Amino acid sequence: MHELSVALSLIELAEAEAKQAGATHIESVRVRVGALSGVVPEALQFAFEAASEGTMLEGAKLEIEELPIRIFCPHCHAEREVPAGFILRCPVCNEFCGDIRQGKELELASLTLLTEERP
Ligand SMILES: [Zn+2]
Repeated sequence: MHELSVALSLIELAEAEAKQAGATHIESVRVRVGALSGVVPEALQFAFEAASEGTMLEGAKLEIEELPIRIFCPHCHAEREVPAGFILRCPVCNEFCGDIRQGKELELASLTLLTEERP
């Protein structure tokens, strides 16, 4: 399952950042997932919940920001959004465009950290 390894590396990255910031727990994680990244948001959500058990992210909320595919059309000299599942053609002039500007993202966008004072 591809999403499980994605979830594990996100957790690892988030924990490293939280430790560096001196946080004790992570309240929420926001990730950007492009339509071409090959990650299914629902599957990632599920994998994250399972993989975060026993980590600083246990119970944390995973917010997934889905990014549509954007291509650059050399004919129109403009960036165009392409509906998912369509071949990469400019929706305006129907020209084939292989110049993908957005949609392959798979990245950590932000973290909400908690720092508890220890007595
Ligand atoms: Zn075009």
